[in-house]
Amino acid sequence: LSSNDGTNIIRPGKRPAAGPDEAESLDVWGFSDTHFDFSSSGHVMIRGTRYELSGKELPRFLPWVREVLECEVGPATVDKGHYPTAIPEPCIAPAFLSDLQSFLKSDQIETNAEIRLRHGHGHTQEEMYAIKYARLGRVPDLVVYPENEGQVVQLVAAAKRHEVSLIPFGGGTNVTDALRCDPAEPRTIVSADMRRMNRILWIDLENMMASIEAGAVGRHIMSELKKYGVTMGHEPDSVEFSTMGGWIATNASGMKKNRYGNIEDLILDVNVITADGKLERTTASPRESVGLDLRRLMFGSEGTLGIITSAIVKIFPLPEVQKYGSVLFPSFEQGFKFMYDLSREAAPPASVRLVDNLQFQFGLALKPKSAGGLADIKSKVEKFFVTKIKGFEPLKMVACTLVFEGSREEVDQQERALYRIAARHGGMKAGSENGRRGYQLTYSIAYIRDFLMPYYIIAESFETSVPWSNALALCDNVKRRLLEEYERRGLPGKPFVTARVTQLYRTGVCIYFYFGFYYKGLPNPQDVYLELENIARDEILKSGGSLSHHHGVGKLRRAYLPRIMSETALQWKRELKKSLDPKNVFGAGNQGLDLK
Ligand SMILES: Cc1cc2nc3c(=O)[nH]c(=O)nc-3n(C[C@H](O)[C@H](O)[C@H](O)COP(=O)(O)OP(=O)(O)OC[C@H]3O[C@@H](n4cnc5c(N)ncnc54)[C@H](O)[C@@H]3O)c2cc1C
Repeated sequence: LSSNDGTNIIRPGKRPAAGPDEAESLDVWGFSDTHFDFSSSGHVMIRGTRYELSGKELPRFLPWVREVLECEVGPATVDKGHYPTAIPEPCIAPAFLSDLQSFLKSDQIETNAEIRLRHGHGHTQEEMYAIKYARLGRVPDLVVYPENEGQVVQLVAAAKRHEVSLIPFGGGTNVTDALRCDPAEPRTIVSADMRRMNRILWIDLENMMASIEAGAVGRHIMSELKKYGVTMGHEPDSVEFSTMGGWIATNASGMKKNRYGNIEDLILDVNVITADGKLERTTASPRESVGLDLRRLMFGSEGTLGIITSAIVKIFPLPEVQKYGSVLFPSFEQGFKFMYDLSREAAPPASVRLVDNLQFQFGLALKPKSAGGLADIKSKVEKFFVTKIKGFEPLKMVACTLVFEGSREEVDQQERALYRIAARHGGMKAGSENGRRGYQLTYSIAYIRDFLMPYYIIAESFETSVPWSNALALCDNVKRRLLEEYERRGLPGKPFVTARVTQLYRTGVCIYFYFGFYYKGLPNPQDVYLELENIARDEILKSGGSLSHHHGVGKLRRAYLPRIMSETALQWKRELKKSLDPKNVFGAGNQGLDLK
């Protein structure tokens, strides 16, 4: 793809290099300079300096976890596991390797066992459990790091020649087992890690678009574009680590989609190297009618059709104003009705999220130790006002957090309309600081799941989208069913089941569930979890929800496809895969597209 080379085209050219403070952990989520831990006084805290919560003690967290899960979790009862568990030996055809060596430098070919292991999984609870307490039956035999599109072309050709399976790797943040390898795959498996292809190729400030390589991670895309006063506006909660190619291949959704759109709204064009050659076009137009839209095939392709090498995306001026906000509601139902009216009557702000009471409590439990003094008094007065004067019940009230972005005028208008609608539903403004804190927590919360695993707590999130009319019932049905099934199995303590509404549309919402439990004494907690998650998925589908709003299908949910589409639809998909990739070069096997 080439730009129309006008005067406003900037070519940053240089590849952003990852600094020493950007190293990532291999065995848990996130940056290696950050992890949750116990302080010397026995409180939970986050080590490091990266996030607002870093270095602070969270004295309420552990007591709250013990109370909710009815368990004796604490630093003394720990099973650290034995990461890395046995890693399968690599099996590499020598002729293929020497072919690779003819166009890749030695530092672009990796056979290190731990690196291969990391490329054989994403971040589902089963995968993160397996690498410490069980094992992955198969991982890539080799990892390669292409640095330009020409090398991807050569890689795909070599894979085809030598009958090797290729799996594209972005940030490895998927939560669908999309990178998990089939133990029965007889061919050499090669993971193509795209993260060295991370340049912004050009930025066209006149037409507000940019061409970005597929391996660029979200945090770099944001910081690079910011230098030129623009943003792509796509901010999934995994933005620190997920990549452009991964976003397209999973059909991702960012928290600010109300203002900027989901990934499919933001992409104008894609370049893809397929088993047959390159998918490319001559121009990126604002909108087209040119017959079957092949670009669409790549959204949700999950590594099965080719390697996305770059994309042309829409960009936007950095907002003049960014403001946070929050509103408390007496109940989830009232908060939900507010969301509905907001979607009908006003332009919603960039992000609106409504958490249920348990998740609201979870947020409070993550409040750092108070410094005492005025801040302490203020918080006590606020609590008194909310519960005693306004009469909100602590075990019923919920919170909605908000991010407004735009011109001053736009934001003023959105705020006025939103708070007016909120008041109609009993909402009480709870200030910008609480809103800001809610969004800041997003990045540190992602570390908690892996921290708690050695203390016998297993947890995971799953999501769906659902029309407004079914949404409240869906939340109730999923929670009720999980509680019943948990009790029926006589599992330890009580499970943690909570929901939040993270995206709104005129037609419905995206709902995110978190589910976790204490597993001490259970031999295969990851299987128990999966069984219960599948029961929840069954309940979601029965309640009119979708298989996924943005996480995707991968291998985790492929068995459900016959429940949501006709046999003809499935046949079309299989035929498409068969004709576009007859040798199954892209052998990730997601969505059942493995030609078996
Ligand atoms: C803490 C956390 C928060 C998350 N929050 C969100 C969220 O807010 N919104 C959201 O949508 N998702 C979210 N996710 C899920 C995940 O981040 C997304 O699915 C993301 O888009 C995956 O991108 P990735 O670069 O990590 O891809 P990977 O995990 O590396 O790969 C995912 C799939 O895409 C394929 N792929 C990757 N790169 C390419 C390429 N260049 N060409 C072809 N195929 C490719 C892979 O083969 C694989 O099938 C979250 C996950 C976690 C763990």
